Amino acid sequence: MKSYPENFAKLVESLEKLPSIGRKSATRLAYFLAFEDKFSALSLAHNIECCVQQLRICEECGGISNDFLCSICSDNMRNNGELCIVANPREIFLLEESGEFLGKYFVIESLEKLDLKHLEKIIQKNHTKEIIFAFSPTLGNESVMLYLEDKLEYLGLQFTKIAQGIPTGVSLENIDQLSIIRALQSRVKI
Ligand SMILES: [Zn+2]
Repeated sequence: MKSYPENFAKLVESLEKLPSIGRKSATRLAYFLAFEDKFSALSLAHNIECCVQQLRICEECGGISNDFLCSICSDNMRNNGELCIVANPREIFLLEESGEFLGKYFVIESLEKLDLKHLEKIIQKNHTKEIIFAFSPTLGNESVMLYLEDKLEYLGLQFTKIAQGIPTGVSLENIDQLSIIRALQSRVKI
């Protein structure tokens, strides 16, 4: 990197920190941004700044939002009876793209981060009838499901989980759209 101007080297270093970008790709991207398409580069910089400054976590579901509440939580047309539990905010977008689910969401990244009282409040406020776990089958996720079933049993809810097409240990992000739709449609009682 010594042969590069310092600011170019810094750009390469920044890009290299992004997920799935190695040194070679980072250098190629830096060259593209700095020399080949300056307009796209400035627009990218602007969009990153806007997202970093304006996006926040929805106070209700833990999803990504522009406001205190996200567009899903504040949508009165959504089915409050169904609450879909996902492992991270990005997966809400994946499920939304499938167009298959019309209920609400709740993000549980880990049991350590879970605010059970907050979840109980939402379930009671929305009169939730069914909890749908949209998890990939990992040991950690299984224990979250067992824990919640146990803690929320007194609320008389139905617990289901998305079914076929989700292989063990694979994140929803790596599943094709059709498999997500099928998995939601053929969810099973647990
Ligand atoms: Zn929300």
